[in-house]
Amino acid sequence: MAIERKGDIAADALLVAEQVHKAFRVGRRSLTAVRGVSLEIKRGQSLGLVGESGSGKSTLGRILVGLLAPDQGTIRFDGINRKTLSARAKRLQWRRLQMIFQDPGSALNPQMTVGRNIIDPLIAQGVGTKAEREQRLAVLLDQVGLTAQQAADYPFELSGGQQQRVGIARALAIEPELVICDEPVSALDVSVQAQVLALLQRLQREHGLSYVFISHNLAAVGAMSDVVAVMYLGEIVEIAPVRELFKTPQHPYTCALFGSILSMPADPTRRTPLVPLPGEIPSPLSRPTGCAFHPRCPMAMERCRVE
Ligand code: ADP
Ligand code: MG
Repeated sequence: MAIERKGDIAADALLVAEQVHKAFRVGRRSLTAVRGVSLEIKRGQSLGLVGESGSGKSTLGRILVGLLAPDQGTIRFDGINRKTLSARAKRLQWRRLQMIFQDPGSALNPQMTVGRNIIDPLIAQGVGTKAEREQRLAVLLDQVGLTAQQAADYPFELSGGQQQRVGIARALAIEPELVICDEPVSALDVSVQAQVLALLQRLQREHGLSYVFISHNLAAVGAMSDVVAVMYLGEIVEIAPVRELFKTPQHPYTCALFGSILSMPADPTRRTPLVPLPGEIPSPLSRPTGCAFHPRCPMAMERCRVE
């Protein structure tokens, strides 16, 4: 079935975020989850988002995909400010963006068969006839490495890795251009993680997809991304092409993520990612002054408390 799409303007930015800000009300207080984030995702590229739990990665991912509206700032998809879209245009844009979640079990509808879960977005968007959807389902099952018989199973009958394959098939059903993968392998057994990452990489090549790949694991982000953005307390503290970031991390927090802040080994493959950092990420409700990382930074100076 043909899905309408605008002409391919190769190599330009598919999505641009400018000064995006998002706060949540917590009781009587306001918690800033994303503060002043600007970034760009090029067609066919993968942007990695890395940072400790609570740094605002999921909130930013939900804003980029359109599940959450930012309080301030703009999101341009294909050059058009999302705020200016009509309801119909927004629905059409939805087809071009999808999200894959961390917990595949809870992202699927337990009452529906695997097959119905996968084609549900097509039904919701009124895409194709029943026969066309069945055909599409067969192709999708094959692409993600599931058997035709598994379409009749219920999600609980599958393993975690298989459930995530269902989540991936579901995200691809409507042929999106940009897929936000939010910790897509963090809930899976280590032995299955590499298989699912390899599947995501193959699908990206075959379909020319753009990814936002979110993880707290620097090694996984390194393997999956062209450009990596490092988040701390809602801010991007560093953004660089993956090789550059691994070779010469600039921000002390990025260095800390590599687990060897004072003596960076020359060989990047010898760095162990995510050795526990000193201290804990502060609550966004009691954000440190100056550079938010200064209380945990071994290189902090007096001015870091202020600037
Ligand atoms: P990450 O994905 O990096 O772990 P999140 O985006 O989930 O970070 O959360 C960032 C911050 O925003 C956290 O402090 C979290 O507690 C808070 N937060 C996220 N969603 C909500 C919400 N709906 N209401 C209140 N606070 C939230
Ligand atoms: Mg998260």
